Amino acid sequence: MSRRVLLVTLVVALVFPVAAGAQAKSPAKKRPNILFIMSDDHASAAIGAYQSWLAKVTRTPNLDRLAKQGIRFTNSLVTNSICTPSRAAILTGQYSHKNGVYTLADTMDPTRVHIAHLLRALGYQTALIGKWHLGTDPAGFDYWNILPGQGVYLNPVLREIGMKKKQNRKFDGRYSTDVVTDLSLEWLKKRDPQKPFLLFCHFKAPHRPWDPAPRFENLYKDVTIPEPETLLDDYKGRSKSTANVKLRIGQDMVQRDLGVPIPKDLDRDALRKWAYQIYMKRYLSCVAAVDENVGRLLAYLDQAGLAEDTIVIYTSDQGFFLGEHGFYDKRIMYEPCLTTPLIIRYPPLTKAGGVHESMVLNIDHAPTFLNLAGGAIPKDMQGRSYKALLSGGEPPGWRASMYYRYWMHLDGSHNVHAQYGVRTPRYTLIHFYGKGLGMKGAKNIDTTPEWELFDRVKDPQQMRNLYGDPAHAGTVRELRAELDRLRKELQDER
Ligand code: CA
Repeated sequence: MSRRVLLVTLVVALVFPVAAGAQAKSPAKKRPNILFIMSDDHASAAIGAYQSWLAKVTRTPNLDRLAKQGIRFTNSLVTNSICTPSRAAILTGQYSHKNGVYTLADTMDPTRVHIAHLLRALGYQTALIGKWHLGTDPAGFDYWNILPGQGVYLNPVLREIGMKKKQNRKFDGRYSTDVVTDLSLEWLKKRDPQKPFLLFCHFKAPHRPWDPAPRFENLYKDVTIPEPETLLDDYKGRSKSTANVKLRIGQDMVQRDLGVPIPKDLDRDALRKWAYQIYMKRYLSCVAAVDENVGRLLAYLDQAGLAEDTIVIYTSDQGFFLGEHGFYDKRIMYEPCLTTPLIIRYPPLTKAGGVHESMVLNIDHAPTFLNLAGGAIPKDMQGRSYKALLSGGEPPGWRASMYYRYWMHLDGSHNVHAQYGVRTPRYTLIHFYGKGLGMKGAKNIDTTPEWELFDRVKDPQQMRNLYGDPAHAGTVRELRAELDRLRKELQDER
């Protein structure tokens, strides 16, 4: 047993003796079941309830219903907008610099204690089914069944707890999102009904390469997808770090991700508009199957009489550009990829149809689950419980700013610069600090540091970089001081 596991085992034993003892006497029902449904790269703009420019074409009746029955957060943010690090942040309640998962090349230390270990110690049954993407085998779960690596959409392969490294089960003729739901339902039906559960149901969709289920292949055949206002952005006035990223919907993206021949004689804008249609039709078709399967999970909770006692959380590991600024993908501290959908239904606490504007972070889920389960929140978790926010209010002293950091400096394929920054309800200040820090997966090429400042009240689309504008010198000073304060508080001063 490693020192860390031993330490946390001791902490759990010391902190939770009352909870562990009380568990045998009090009915398990009083502690909520937790169903955490997470998709991969699902931007909130692609959910009807979020009322974006796509609202008329999204097919998300079940997610929309969940939002009507529960509460929808409009400022749910990630601490590092990239798959593997965000997943580690969610499990550990910690930033990348604390949990050690900085980049796509890092893996989860299997001895590191996270929310599943802690809830299991409180008497929960714990399972993770679907996308894992943290390299090492999952630990802390009573049951897991995962898509190896990124997984595939069609004829998926899954590897179950107890199987050797190269063993797996192939689901011929099946679609990934359906299989992950089937396995989740199987586990729910087999569980011990006397104990509360924590189930992470993680879809691969709608991550690249956006293969729809055969039944949705022609869903958008004769539909024209509305375009975002900034699809034809020319990046004037933004930093070079932003203007030069390889996230543009253009020739490279078509060749790499869409794999269709490009019609002749398209100029930059025409190519972007044409590719956007193909991209979004595929993406939204994948979302349609996610929604359908969320509906199956919700139907099971109803049939099994579990809807009242189960907190259902729907979110994504980060957001995604759906053509805003002419981009796709994620990584930059801009709203489309910094924010995620977050819809929560827990009838004892959430008010039907609620909309919440407080800033909630991906590192807040783990402390919230502990809080709901009656456990103590370990001091080294950096997130905060949002339980008090579920009934609509905001407790005094709730965060008024958040810290973000993306570590992969010029990864080659996307050319995004390492960056950190601070976001308040009004402003976003981003610092592209120009250093490759030698992290795995990052290059050691230093670049010229740059800053961007956006006033999101006057410029919600983030088109005007105000950094360097003398009229905003005072705002810059205040935000830089806040950034320094957060970096110190979070112990990220590299
Ligand atoms: Ca992702």
